[in-house]
Amino acid sequence: MIQVNAPKLSQVPVCVTCGTQYPEVERMEDCPVCCDARQYVGWDGQRWTTSAEVAAQHEVHFEDCAGVMTLQLAPRFGIGQRAFLIPQAGGMVMWECLSAVTDAAVERIAGMARDGGRVQAIAISHPHFYSAMLEWSAALGGVPIYLHEADEEWVAFDSPFLRFWSGDRFKLTDAIDLVHLPGHFEGSSGLLWKTGPRPGGSLFPGDAIQIGMDRRIASFMWSYPNAIPLGRKSLARLRAHVDPLAFSDLYGSFEGKQMIGEAKALVEASFARYEAALEG
Ligand SMILES: [Zn+2]
Ligand SMILES: [Zn+2]
Repeated sequence: MIQVNAPKLSQVPVCVTCGTQYPEVERMEDCPVCCDARQYVGWDGQRWTTSAEVAAQHEVHFEDCAGVMTLQLAPRFGIGQRAFLIPQAGGMVMWECLSAVTDAAVERIAGMARDGGRVQAIAISHPHFYSAMLEWSAALGGVPIYLHEADEEWVAFDSPFLRFWSGDRFKLTDAIDLVHLPGHFEGSSGLLWKTGPRPGGSLFPGDAIQIGMDRRIASFMWSYPNAIPLGRKSLARLRAHVDPLAFSDLYGSFEGKQMIGEAKALVEASFARYEAALEG
């Protein structure tokens, strides 16, 4: 792996289709994330940009979503995921990440400093959202980035700010656990905010759990864009990781995709529905 100085990060290649940033010296013909069967190479072929170019053409849009601040590139870029700022005693945690950093966004986040504390950590669910994580870490003052070790092979950079956690559960703060939700990727993980924003707590599952358009049914796929489902064993393994978690709200990866209230029951019903479908 290659170490790249933070000021240069805004100039290294970013894949236009998935938004992943790579070190210049490892510049390759094709993006490994997009060549994987879970993703796809853009219909016009592999194209590269830089986060500086993306930042010049996009803004980071902030929006409160059912009590949680979300960040998204506008107009939409790459996979189009949202990131979240989760308030904590003494600061905030950034869950998920975006492909470009803007000065305006960094200023706004600094202005949100809670209890005199800034962003203490970045944590990301899986490789599709690694995006410009090192650049964000640097822009926020050199904060640690927490990733599940099972996906370490997908990390293109070396950095002293990377922290790989292992096992099924990792206590990030008093109120936040990172939880292993394998299936979509071996290291897919979620963020469990045990006390907020409402008393029942909330789960941020990345792509491990995808909320359907009616926002009452969830699904669990190995590839969403290519519609490759999880098989029986993988589904059972994921369900065994979700069952012990207590949450009433579920915040999905994409704008508008959340289940507020009774989310745990809806996810359980969605597992049962999927299992019944596998039985034919
Ligand atoms: Zn890509
Ligand atoms: Zn994904």
